[in-house]
Order: sequence, then C-alpha cells, then structure tokens
Amino acid sequence: MSLSREQMLIEMGITPIWVLREPEPTAAAVETREEVAAEPTARLPAPERAPAIAPAARPAADFPQRPMTPVNTLDWPELAKQVAECRACPLCEQRKQAVFGVGDFNPDWLFIGEGPGAEEDAKGEPFVGQAGKLLDAMLASLDVGRGNRVYIANAVKCRPPGNRTPEAAEMAACRPYLERQIALLKPKIIVLLGKAAVHAVLHDDKSLASLRGNRYEFAGIPVVVTYHPAYLLRNLPDKSKAWEDLLFARRLLRELATPELPF
Ligand code: URA
Ligand code: SF4
Repeated sequence: MSLSREQMLIEMGITPIWVLREPEPTAAAVETREEVAAEPTARLPAPERAPAIAPAARPAADFPQRPMTPVNTLDWPELAKQVAECRACPLCEQRKQAVFGVGDFNPDWLFIGEGPGAEEDAKGEPFVGQAGKLLDAMLASLDVGRGNRVYIANAVKCRPPGNRTPEAAEMAACRPYLERQIALLKPKIIVLLGKAAVHAVLHDDKSLASLRGNRYEFAGIPVVVTYHPAYLLRNLPDKSKAWEDLLFARRLLRELATPELPF
C-alpha cells in the first residue's frame, strides 16, 4: 500500500505524530555538529569550514589508549561490556559513559546515527535529545519504534567533545563494534542518518543529496541513506525528503518480505 501525496504531507508535518517544533534554543538542546552546518543544500551558504569528516590524521597506533581486542565472536553481554570499558580511541577520555545502542534485538530496521551528544552521554541511550524526539516521530510514522522492530546505534559509541563530528580514525576504531552489532542483529534494512554514518558504513564521503534515493548494501543487507534528524531540525523543508527516503526504505523492506514472483 502506498500513501497518497495528501497522506504523506499529513504524516510529514501536520499530524501530531510527525510534527516536532523547533526547540527553544537552549544551550543543551541545540545540536552544533559540523555535519549539520555542512550539509549541502542550495539554501545554505557554502560551508566555510573543513570537510565534515576530517581525514584520518593519526594512525590508530598513535592513540595513547588500549587497543581493542577482537569482538567478532562476542555475544551481546560480552560486547556491551567491552564497549563500556573500551579505551581504543581518544573519545574514551571525556565520555561519561559509552552509549551502546537500544532497541529490538531481532529488528527489521537498524538506524545508525553519528555519535552520542550531551544528553545521550548522560543517559547512556542513543537519540534521547531533540534529534531523538524527531527520530521517534519518524519511526512512529512508520508504525515502528525503538524496541518495536527497530534498533538504534551510532557510528561512534562515545561522545565527541563539544558535539564535534567524529574523526575518520575514531569511526574506524569503533567500527568493529558496529559491525558486530550488525552481525548479531541481522536487520533487514539499514538506514544511515547523515554523513558520518555514511562514512562509517559505506566509506563514502559524497554529499547526502547525491547519495540518497539509492540502494546500497552492507554484508548483503540493503542500506538506505537519509538526512540526520539534527540537520532536519535546522532545515525543516528537507523533512519531506527524509520522508521520501523512509518510504523508499519501507518499499525495499516490503519487497524483501514478498519478493516478486517469477510468474
Ligand atoms: N545524534 C546522533 O547521531 N546520535 C545520537 O545518539 C544523538 C544525536
Ligand atoms: Fe572505544 Fe568506540 Fe568509545 Fe572510541 S568511541 S573509546 S573505539 S567505544
């Protein structure tokens, strides 16, 4: 069943489900990630800063921290413990706690964000701030939610200081955890939220605008790309594009469930 344009617009901004008002700009609530400002759109001036994903400037060996022990045989409790104790990259130094992930352990959907912000760092759960509220509204529009056919994780498990975008080397250091989560979860579809998640999973640094609308793959699992909810909070008109991306993902998911018959 596909939604009419009218239904789609209702879901996008007029119903209580999807609408999320721009938060009052309190210091804690405002997302200040580089990626958010640097998302390419015709409405924004050209970013005056360095590319959103800093190149891997330092080899992992330069990190003063403890190297990671292999994780590809760990079960959930072992993996969670290792993440909680991880000191494999410099992000361990200023975190309150590592933020592992949350949701259904047998999900259809896996959403991957960038990394914890202040509120996530304090609570130990991904996407609990304003961006998280929008993500929850997006999920509700799909009739799913965290813990209900959805798992939510991040490219890095520890908060980058000042909410900066994680560096490529930090995402590379953390990637085995994400890979193990994906292997254990076996989601039917992966949705990458924003440039950092795209970099971490697909190793692609092209603009989101040029990447969205296509099907990618990770370990045989279909992957779809869309805007990060924090970006959408600052660029409300692009919510309709994110909704299109989610409908595209849902279509792929449904095709998987009922593959076209050859007759
Ligand atoms: N942004 C993210 O990318 N992840 C979170 O968990 C919260 C905000
Ligand atoms: Fe370890 Fe990932 Fe945290 Fe870095 S961000 S310390 S690799 S858990």
